[in-house]
Amino acid sequence: MFNKLKIRGGVHAEERKAQSTGQPITTLGIPPFLYLPLRQHAGKPAEPVVSVGQSVKKGELLATSSGEDVCASLHAPTSGVVIAIGEVTAPHPSQLGTLAITLESDGLDTPLALSDTVDPMTLSPSEIADRVDQAGIVGLGGATFPAALKLKSGARQKIDTLILNGSECEPYLTCDDMLMRERAEGIISGARLIQRAIGAKRIVAGIEDNKPEAIAAMEEAATPYSDVLVQPIPTRYPMGSAKQLIQAIMGREVPAGGRSSDVGALVHNVATAYAVHQALYEHQPLISRVVTVSGQCIEQPQNVEVLLGTSISWMLEECGGLTEAPSRVVMGGPMMGQILHTTDVPITKGASGILALASPEISKTEASPCIRCGSCVAACPMGLVPLEMARHAKGDDFEGAREFGLRDCILCGSCAYVCPSHIPLVHYFQFAKGELSSQREQARKGELTKSLAEARKQRKEREEAEKAAAKAAKAAKAQAAKEAKERAKAEKARQQAAEAAQTSEESGS
Ligand code: SF4
Ligand code: SF4
Repeated sequence: MFNKLKIRGGVHAEERKAQSTGQPITTLGIPPFLYLPLRQHAGKPAEPVVSVGQSVKKGELLATSSGEDVCASLHAPTSGVVIAIGEVTAPHPSQLGTLAITLESDGLDTPLALSDTVDPMTLSPSEIADRVDQAGIVGLGGATFPAALKLKSGARQKIDTLILNGSECEPYLTCDDMLMRERAEGIISGARLIQRAIGAKRIVAGIEDNKPEAIAAMEEAATPYSDVLVQPIPTRYPMGSAKQLIQAIMGREVPAGGRSSDVGALVHNVATAYAVHQALYEHQPLISRVVTVSGQCIEQPQNVEVLLGTSISWMLEECGGLTEAPSRVVMGGPMMGQILHTTDVPITKGASGILALASPEISKTEASPCIRCGSCVAACPMGLVPLEMARHAKGDDFEGAREFGLRDCILCGSCAYVCPSHIPLVHYFQFAKGELSSQREQARKGELTKSLAEARKQRKEREEAEKAAAKAAKAAKAQAAKEAKERAKAEKARQQAAEAAQTSEESGS
């Protein structure tokens, strides 16, 4: 059924995973306050449907889409009172403000009463997608794209294979590994619902071969189903990228600029599948997630199940606190994660890990000139030429970088990882992508302004033509009235003359 595993590029990054897998997933308690940004997914921010002062129950809807926008709903992670809707610091290197709902928990954790006895596997594909939508589920592997949209578009395309992404290739991160070890049945259950929603013939769980416990647990959970296969894959970063996974498992190459669905595949993270199971079988929207807390500065590295909106500083304290001030705090993995300058920011749906790294864990070597060794080319999983892309991006020639394939760059950082000159290649690519995107946005706005101006001009011309036509009609009407009046006057004069002539004739006779 599947081609032999084929892998291009990638690197063997130092794993550093063992430190957080020594104990089971710990469920953290309820923090006093929860800060829930309205934008924590790809797309538009959700619109609040609650107001300040309102009491809410656990699982109650707090914010949702206001229309057809790409958006994921937000629910109360516990019961309490909405005490503010305003800006909080975003969990982002910029430290900019982001609109958020602040919930003060009441400590009671009172859930919404739900009574639905329908077997989710009897629901239609669109009903499954609707429930995933209502539960606010996004891709939990980092993409944070609303999962329901992927299900709906998958149902419209010919998808033969659902790939469950259990590769978790980023160093340090083990949240998916632990989830597979401990909750494999729930993951397979959610995956079967996704399979039903998109009409895929089979499910393949791709798991890196450095996770033998997870592979065993998933194989056991998949045993009852002949169309669910667990496929160990080589440990190689960035195996977790959808394109690499499809290439490795199916031998199919997603075309440049294309999507997974173009080659009949859809990829969902194992944690997303588990969230689908929780939403449909346990009636629990996405209100928590498993997060890896690791790095040399963490007292007790581990995986914790934490409510969305929990402050990272509160969470770190619950994990035993810090052993020393970290040199760097990262949300996500060290290769693709976001550097945080403060821990007073909340856990969001896409937060797979919080790493508090000590100085020896970070490369701080100064960059030196490119020696054209070609290591970055060999490491690039997308078959790009990073040194050339960087050369163009550095010279502000973003179009040149684009011609070298910038659009296909997945910002995985493999090239920078192997670069002996320590050139911050990914920074150049991020910057160039941002510039191209703002240029596209400018061009789009320019086009919009042009078409609005054209529409305005046409409207003015139409109004003027209508005015002129109305004026002409009025003038024609006045002229017709005038002519009628004159005709009536002439007729009257003619009649008077005739009468006068008749009178004169009668008096003469
Ligand atoms: S790996 Fe670094 S030094 Fe080598 S070619 Fe690429 S950019 Fe240049
Ligand atoms: S960051 Fe981009 S250019 Fe560098 S290895 Fe990854 S995909 Fe290739």
